[in-house]
Amino acid sequence: MKEFEFIDHLRQRFAAHALNTPNAPLLGMGDDAAIVSVPAGRQVVVSTDMLVSDVHFFADDAAADIGAKALAVNLSDLAAMGADPAWFFLSVALPGMDYRWCDDFITGLLEMAEYGGIQLAGGDTTRGPLTITVTVMGLVEAGTALRRDGAQPGDLVVVSGCPGLAGLALQQENLEETVDSEARLALKRPQARLALGRALRGKATACIDVSDGLAADLSHLLKASGCGAEIRLQSLPQHPALAALEDDERWALQLGGGDDYELCFTLPPQYRHDIERLQQQAGIALQVIGETRAGSGLKLTRPDGGEFSLPRFGYEHFSE
Ligand code: ADP
Ligand code: MG
Repeated sequence: MKEFEFIDHLRQRFAAHALNTPNAPLLGMGDDAAIVSVPAGRQVVVSTDMLVSDVHFFADDAAADIGAKALAVNLSDLAAMGADPAWFFLSVALPGMDYRWCDDFITGLLEMAEYGGIQLAGGDTTRGPLTITVTVMGLVEAGTALRRDGAQPGDLVVVSGCPGLAGLALQQENLEETVDSEARLALKRPQARLALGRALRGKATACIDVSDGLAADLSHLLKASGCGAEIRLQSLPQHPALAALEDDERWALQLGGGDDYELCFTLPPQYRHDIERLQQQAGIALQVIGETRAGSGLKLTRPDGGEFSLPRFGYEHFSE
């Protein structure tokens, strides 16, 4: 497959999808640039995330998984902002043009685009070490986007799903152990919590998606908001796949493992009784794990009241 054949193939496979969503670009793939139209009263939310082979995924991962995840991690940023996905751009560097690989990659990408209701509006294709950069654009009513900087002391700290599953799968994969099937899905096929992000608009005071580890990402939210928080470790979500681990190991994985793509958010305490309804709206379990408080820093409290210190605190590139 040549470069233009890949682009053509993408365009054809996305054409049918384009008919089924409301935000078809006015001018999409095929010209020098795309043209999109922003409805009156709405703001555009933009984010970009790059996936590099052997850094963010293994080169021999299924091509469909790579395609789906490249878009999912970007949709997750829109979810964290409470935005409705609208358009995305795809820039790929490919070492070669393996037809089968490209076709599978597009299949995964298309599945995730359908899940997110997002339109492919353009991109760039080049030869090089396998790298995928997606840029997403979403829409929100002006002024309603969820941000990191609005948490108030006394808010509930809530997390969706079960952080730690993706980290468990990666650990099992690295140790060449049998990988738990749900943990594998969390790692290879993360689902952006778009419905949750939408449901939180006007309710959550701050929100972040958990990509670098719950403790690290929550710390970013706290710093932006100018407050601290206490997390009770016995309140962390439970999962059968994590049940065999020693407590300390499980907590380290749940707080320090990355790649979860769950949402962590703060909710004024009067919404405590709405959590059940939010769960239903969002289709994902929600768990109150602690509270924010005046001051700064994140305190991790063991069931016996002692403090837990996290061995490895979030994923950071260039850290070694
Ligand atoms: P130019 O040289 O003007 O940048 P390209 O040949 O790079 O044009 O791209 C032609 C058209 O195909 C553009 O509309 C571009 O957005 C689209 N395109 C190229 N690569 C991709 C891709 N990987 N995904 C989506 N659209 C792409
Ligand atoms: Mg180009």
